[in-house]
Amino acid sequence: MTLGLSPDELALQARAREFSQSVVRPRGAAIDREEQYPWDIVRALTDAKFVGMTIPLEYGGQGRSFLDTVLVIEEMAKSCTVTARIVVETNMGAISTVMAYGGEAQKRRAAELVLSGDKPAICITEPDAGSDAAAMTTRADKRGDVYVINGRKHWITGGGVSRLHLIFARVYDERGEELGIGGFLAVRDEAKGLRVVRREPTMGLRGMPEGELEFEDLEVPAAMALVPPSGFRRGFADLMNAYNSQRVGAGTVAMGIAAGALDHAVDWTKSREQFGRPIAEFQGLQWMLADMQTQLTAARLMLYAAARSRGPGGSSPPRRRSASSTTRCRCLVHAGTRATSRSSAWRATCACSPSGAAPRRCCAPSSPQRCSAGNCRRPATATSRPPPGPWQRSKAPYLPRVRGRSAPRSGAGWGLPSANL
Ligand SMILES: Cc1cc2nc3c(=O)[nH]c(=O)nc-3n(C[C@H](O)[C@H](O)[C@H](O)COP(=O)(O)OP(=O)(O)OC[C@H]3O[C@@H](n4cnc5c(N)ncnc54)[C@H](O)[C@@H]3O)c2cc1C
Repeated sequence: MTLGLSPDELALQARAREFSQSVVRPRGAAIDREEQYPWDIVRALTDAKFVGMTIPLEYGGQGRSFLDTVLVIEEMAKSCTVTARIVVETNMGAISTVMAYGGEAQKRRAAELVLSGDKPAICITEPDAGSDAAAMTTRADKRGDVYVINGRKHWITGGGVSRLHLIFARVYDERGEELGIGGFLAVRDEAKGLRVVRREPTMGLRGMPEGELEFEDLEVPAAMALVPPSGFRRGFADLMNAYNSQRVGAGTVAMGIAAGALDHAVDWTKSREQFGRPIAEFQGLQWMLADMQTQLTAARLMLYAAARSRGPGGSSPPRRRSASSTTRCRCLVHAGTRATSRSSAWRATCACSPSGAAPRRCCAPSSPQRCSAGNCRRPATATSRPPPGPWQRSKAPYLPRVRGRSAPRSGAGWGLPSANL
């Protein structure tokens, strides 16, 4: 089953599978047992160019997609979760955030480190700010052309082995006024004031250190502050948005572990004999394996879809719809509401063109003059009816609820004459 992968993607997957089976698998159990970060595997991954794949070509990477990365992660996770994590974090997460929002010098420095095998660390979580990450208290005070960072982070993956650190902190200007949350790049061993004070004991992924970090008057040049286009005020949301690729990577590690376990189970049922035959011949086991394969394929497809949603260039900035589009629509459905272009209601029913392109469907086709959106010139016709769907079985059409009142119960939303409803 190729699951819609291109020949190039299948070739990359085959290369990763071969690497995983020949280089990683023989080391997997020892990495876990010895709780040592596998520097030999890091070197092999670097030589095989499985690190920094998503870094754009102009910074020395391969400009590969997140889907490419997902294919490699799965193969590594079948043999060793620590190796899979290294692939995640040298292609997604912190490095994607830097490539999305970093300045030229930041991108070059980060690319140089990652392409030489450094797995960047991202420092968000604090002892009193876990799920509620925005409650962080680590602070970065502007003093001239540096930021001075003080605080403590824990559960930092790679603490003690990573060199590049992306540190999230609450930013204060020179008058002590809080500006929001920003990201700061610091390199361990180059930056005074960054200390790894403890390693957390873990039940799994034991070759990957989870560290507690302390920042004491850590000075980061202002040029190493990661400021998204919308500034520090929305900084946390933007930085987390860019960081989100990491979650697809984490999901793929879990899926790869399951895929590896299923491979082992299938091999075992073929070689283990009971009642004079391989146990794979017993239907009860076949059903269990079929169920596992079904769930695994569903998970794989979801991860592929999530990875593909970011498009071909893995580390390009995430697409954000402009805030100004929230005020463009004056149609009957959205009039007087704060419907945004992010809402499905907007996309489903309104063609008042949040992107500024020519509208395809008018919100009030039977009376186009009632749609007062400035750019809504072409009334929709019955041909703009959406493909048949379950909502059409009901007499009541799908119409969005708008804040404070129901949307008009007419055919207007889909360009249908109300008599049809
Ligand atoms: C292996 C590992 C690696 C990690 N790596 C990193 C890293 O590299 N960098 C980093 O910054 N962080 C890292 N973390 C930290 C991770 O992001 C946090 O563990 C996570 O944000 C949860 O925070 P917490 O552990 O403090 O749990 P808490 O926030 O204390 O949550 C405890 C429980 O309460 C539940 N809960 C919390 N709020 C709600 C709510 N509103 N509604 C319902 N349930 C709720 C949670 O789901 C959880 O079950 C790592 C953690 C682990 C385990």
